[in-house]
Amino acid sequence: MPYLSHECIETLMYNLVEPCENLTVQEVNAYELRKLSDTTYSTTGLYIKPANKDEHYIYLLKSLPNYQKAAILLHEYGHFSCTSSGCECAFGEDEVLPEVHAILYQLEALMDWEIFASLSYCVKTICLYYLWVEDKQIADYHIDVANKICETDLWHSAACLVHEDIAKWSNEPRFDEYILPMVDFALVL
Ligand SMILES: [Zn+2]
Ligand SMILES: [Zn+2]
Repeated sequence: MPYLSHECIETLMYNLVEPCENLTVQEVNAYELRKLSDTTYSTTGLYIKPANKDEHYIYLLKSLPNYQKAAILLHEYGHFSCTSSGCECAFGEDEVLPEVHAILYQLEALMDWEIFASLSYCVKTICLYYLWVEDKQIADYHIDVANKICETDLWHSAACLVHEDIAKWSNEPRFDEYILPMVDFALVL
């Protein structure tokens, strides 16, 4: 299991969250997280902005290992930065674009901060979107999200940075079918 200390998470939270007066980050258990989210899918994190209030909340699943928590925090922070900067994706009907923005923010931040354990987790998660949609673990629109992410240079750079981890995933169930097509370019390094 990749190790990331709690101090690292705290530093991350401090640097991201401390300058934002109207953003609260809270760790909650699975039951509370399910109650807060209005989806039937299980979730690891959540960003909420109550209507008519300039307050923002990020909820993280308490039981996650730290390297996952860091990845989820940056993802939810990506949603926060879209909304608080007035990005049009945050105010439209489209579900794909806000998700793409949050993931691109997340990938870039993990690369900048050189949190490679979390970057590798994030890359793997996106590779598995197709499988998870097929298994009905996540909503169908994630296929479009994954397709859009794959077209970006950022995805290419992120996957290349974690190519050693990708090589280790070859024992994963259905690796050739789901993971490999997303990252085969990174394995020729
Ligand atoms: Zn946006
Ligand atoms: Zn999201």
